[in-house]
Amino acid sequence: MTPRKLFRPKLISLFALTFGIEATPTLSVAQRINTGFCYHFAFALKRLHPSVKLVSCNCHAWVEANGLKYDSLNPKGTSNTLCGRCDLSAAKTMSQRNFVKRWANGNSGPISKAKLKVWILNE
Ligand SMILES: [Zn+2]
Repeated sequence: MTPRKLFRPKLISLFALTFGIEATPTLSVAQRINTGFCYHFAFALKRLHPSVKLVSCNCHAWVEANGLKYDSLNPKGTSNTLCGRCDLSAAKTMSQRNFVKRWANGNSGPISKAKLKVWILNE
């Protein structure tokens, strides 16, 4: 799987539309997804590409593939650390079930299966 195929830029706007996420004067849509909707976005990528790994630290979630990390601010993937806020030794790969459980009380609420379905149909 090429990184390009994993994550087309169009995917961001489609995701934002489906989940009702809008840019603010200071934050782009991609930034807003990354701060609050990171786990929704990671889970959506996992649904699109089952072979990617769902990874989560105490405060952020992303996917890994091809040895690179992807979130809404890293559409081409990066080997850099994606979180500078918590103890990254706590970051781990999770099953979909454990990921959903872990983020059920995230700030943006549980992951909406209905919205994911709409997004994937449009993708
Ligand atoms: Zn963190």
